[in-house]
Amino acid sequence: MLKLTNVHSGYDGTEVLRGVSIEVKKGEVVTIVGANGAGKTTTLRSLCGIVKPSQGSIEFEGQRIDGKRPDEIVDAGITLIPEGRQLFPFISVRDNLLMGAYKKGARAGYKQRLEQVLDLFPRVRERLDQNAGSLSGGEQQMVAIARGLMADPKLLMFDEPSLGLSPLLVSQVFGIIDKILDLGTTVLIVEQNIVHTLRIAHRGYVLENGEIALSGTGQELLDNPHVKRAYLGL
Ligand code: ATP
Repeated sequence: MLKLTNVHSGYDGTEVLRGVSIEVKKGEVVTIVGANGAGKTTTLRSLCGIVKPSQGSIEFEGQRIDGKRPDEIVDAGITLIPEGRQLFPFISVRDNLLMGAYKKGARAGYKQRLEQVLDLFPRVRERLDQNAGSLSGGEQQMVAIARGLMADPKLLMFDEPSLGLSPLLVSQVFGIIDKILDLGTTVLIVEQNIVHTLRIAHRGYVLENGEIALSGTGQELLDNPHVKRAYLGL
């Protein structure tokens, strides 16, 4: 479904990604894990068209998407749930969700989609008329995921969904992933919380200094001596 081949990318002449190659197959949960500054967010920005790769290619469903505008990439079926949620705090949860259905293909069926999404998040349904900024951190993360699903994406990308959440809420957020797969949506998660993510991912990549250092199934990476030493302190 998604294929990055030898992607080089960065900011104002500073190269952050140095030859990144990643594949995501339809129906998979794939994760990119790495320390602060490894280039995880830059990878997602390159996928969304916010940052343009200087070399390499990004293909989505067989079409090149590097060089396309962010709105064209959303229309193609890729949605990002950004780090820090980025909700509109002074409008209602309902209006935040409707903003998610703004892309061309999602506008027509938004009412039905809203019901389908709210079935996944009963807590969000209870708070539809409340301003998004008045919700707790965990509830806001659920709204951000629900808003992403309103675009009816083929690929949903998460940037650090566990950031700032208690362990219980992190489990709840990761518990939603199976339901998202049931909707037919493929998932790419970028995380520092590597234990939780590698447990639920089919496959993962370890990004270090802008390069893929390791890849494998979630369990293979959890058992890897370098991952244990460098990321788990074991
Ligand atoms: P974190 O887990 O801390 O969010 P990350 O793996 O997502 O880290 P990136 O945000 O991709 O890392 O940052 C990788 C490098 O790119 C860092 O050295 C960072 O300082 C640099 N960088 C990020 N954004 C910009 C920018 N807008 N302009 C210049 N450099 C940037």
